[in-house]
Amino acid sequence: MRKNALIVVFVFALIFALQAQMPPQQQMKPEDVQKALSLVDKPQPVPDKYKAGFEAISGKDSIAMLTFIASDWTEGRETGTKGYMIAADYAASLFKMWGIKPAGDMPQAGFGGRGGFGGGQRGGAPAAPAERSYFQEFALKSTSDVQSSMSLKISKAGAVQTRDFTSGVDYQAMMGGRGGAGAGSMTAPVVFVGYGIQEPSIKFDELAGLNLKGKVVLVLTEAPGRNDPKSPFNATKELKEKYFPAAPAGGVQFQRGPAPGQPQRFNKLTEIQKQGPAAILQVANVNNDLATYRNMAVPPYVHINDDRPIIGRERGGSMSIPGVTGGGGPMGGSSIPTMSITRDMANAILGATGQTIDNLKSQIEKTFKPASKDLAGTEITMTTTAKTALVRVQNVLGYIEGSDPKLKDEYFVVGAHFDHNGKAGDYIYNGADDNGSGSVGVMNIAKAIAANPVKPKRSIVFALWTGEEKGLLGSRYYTLNPPFPMDKTVGYLNYDMISRPYDATTIARIMQRYGVPGAEELVKKIRAPWFATVNLTEGTPFADITREMNAYVGLDLALQPYALGAGSGGSDHSSFAQVKKPFVYYMAAMTSDYHQPSDSVEKVSGELIAKISQMGYLTVFKFADQ
Ligand SMILES: [Zn+2]
Repeated sequence: MRKNALIVVFVFALIFALQAQMPPQQQMKPEDVQKALSLVDKPQPVPDKYKAGFEAISGKDSIAMLTFIASDWTEGRETGTKGYMIAADYAASLFKMWGIKPAGDMPQAGFGGRGGFGGGQRGGAPAAPAERSYFQEFALKSTSDVQSSMSLKISKAGAVQTRDFTSGVDYQAMMGGRGGAGAGSMTAPVVFVGYGIQEPSIKFDELAGLNLKGKVVLVLTEAPGRNDPKSPFNATKELKEKYFPAAPAGGVQFQRGPAPGQPQRFNKLTEIQKQGPAAILQVANVNNDLATYRNMAVPPYVHINDDRPIIGRERGGSMSIPGVTGGGGPMGGSSIPTMSITRDMANAILGATGQTIDNLKSQIEKTFKPASKDLAGTEITMTTTAKTALVRVQNVLGYIEGSDPKLKDEYFVVGAHFDHNGKAGDYIYNGADDNGSGSVGVMNIAKAIAANPVKPKRSIVFALWTGEEKGLLGSRYYTLNPPFPMDKTVGYLNYDMISRPYDATTIARIMQRYGVPGAEELVKKIRAPWFATVNLTEGTPFADITREMNAYVGLDLALQPYALGAGSGGSDHSSFAQVKKPFVYYMAAMTSDYHQPSDSVEKVSGELIAKISQMGYLTVFKFADQ
C-alpha cells in the first residue's frame, strides 16, 4: 500500500532477466495430462468425520484475519521488527483462543524471554509444570549499510593506469558481495570468458583451458546469435529453447520456481561459480547501455497516483543464521559477488587488449569460436564495508496432540512464512498475498483441527516462519533445532501466496504445455478463478490424497511431483526437502503486485484462501491419520 508518497528514493537493482535459460520442454502424453490435473467443479458433501473442521473455515474469517495481519500497523512484518512481533502476538492469541498448545521455547532460567502468551512462570507462582511459549526465538546475524567500491589497475609496458568505479553508476550488485560475502577487500586478476558457455553438443566451450579460480570473471549475458539463423545455438529446437527461451508474456512470471512440468531452469552462472572465481562481472548482450542506465538511475519523484510498481528496491540488508552455511536461500546460497556492469566499465577493463566488449562480442558471433582470454596486467580491487549486528527473531509455533496413544509421538508440520519486506520511506510492503494469505491458511487449518471433535492419529504442528524473505531462515532453523524430533516428523505442508485468482490469459499460457492432442477437452474445463498449483513429493500419499479430497472442495489443481529431497525452491518447503521430508506446497497466481507495496488486502479472494485451506485441512488430516 502506498502512503502519501511524493518523494521516494529507491535504487533500482539491475537484473538481466535473460541469464536464466529454459531447458527443452518435454512433450506430455494425454494420460500424463489426466494424471497432472484434478478438476472438480461440483464438490460432494464432506464426510461427517471431517465436517465440523471443514465448516470452521470461511472466506469471511480469512479476510478478517488477513485485514489485521496485512494492515499498516504491522508495517510489512519484516523479520526482527516490532511490526512482525505485533502480528506474531496476534497469531499466538488466536492459537490460544482455539486451544492450540504452545510449541515454542521452554522458559529458560536466567534469560529474559519475551512475555506474551504462554510465557514462563511468574515469580512466586506455585511449581506448576513449566509450559512452552508460542515463540521459538533465535538470533540472526544482520548485515546492513553495505558500501562497495571497485577499482581497476592496468600495468602495460611499464605504465600503470588506474580507474575507480562507483556502485549504482558503473555497476550494480546482484548477489553476494552485499553482505553475503561480508566486509573486506580483495584484489584479483581478470579473465574474459565471452558468453561463458560450455555446450558439448556443438563443441563450443568458452571455459576450455582457463583457470577461473580466484579470478574476476568478465562475461556477456545470454548466448551468441539469437537473431542469426546460422548460429549453432539455433541449429536444433532443443538448443534454441535452452539458449533463447521466449520471454514470458506481459513480463510477469506466473510462478516462483519452475512451472509445472518443467525442471529447474539452467543457469550458466552456476557452472562458472563451481570453479570458484573471486567475482563475476556481467555485461548485457545488447548494443548500448541506455536501458542499463535507466534501470540503475534513481527516480527523483514519483507522481501522485502513479501506481507503477517499484521494481527491485534496495533491500534493507541481509540476514543469516550465525554458524550455519548451505541454506536453501533464494540465490542458491552462492556468496560469490556477482555484479552487472556497464559497457563503459567493461571497455575500461578490456583496456590492455585494445578491444572493446562489442568488438569481442561480434567476433564471437561471426566465427562462433571462443574469444576467451586472461587479461594480462589487469587487476580489480573490490572493497566492501558493512555494519553487522545480532537480531532476535521468532517463529510462531503451536500444536495439537494426535489421538493415537502411540502415533501421537509422530508429527506433521503445517507452515507458511509470516515475514515480509517491511517498509521503505513512505511505502509499506503489506504483503497481503505474500504471505499474509498463506499464514491465514495455516491458522485456518489450526482452527479447523481444533474445532473438529475427531483428531488425526498423529500430532500436528502449526508454524509461522520468520526470515523467509531473508533466505528461508526460520524454517531452516526449525529443521536444525526442532521442538519435536525430526526423525519423528512425517511430512510438511507449505502455503505461499494462496489468495490471488488466475486470469484466463495466464491460464491459457500455462495450459499450452498440457494442450497436447487428445487432452484439449480436459484443459478447456479449467476454471481460472479456482486454479492452483500443488507441488508434492512423488512416491508419497500426497497425490492420491489430493485427488480424493478435492472431490469435497472443488478446486482445479495442477499436480507437480518432485523427487524426495528435491524442492522447487523459493519457499520454506525447501528447508524440509533438504532434510528429506516429503512436502506438499500450494500456490495460487503470481501477479504484478508481487513484492510491491500494492500487494494489499482488498485485492485478495477470501473464498480462494478458504478453499485452499480446506484442501490443506483434509490433506493433513488424512495424511496424519493413516
Ligand atoms: Zn512468499
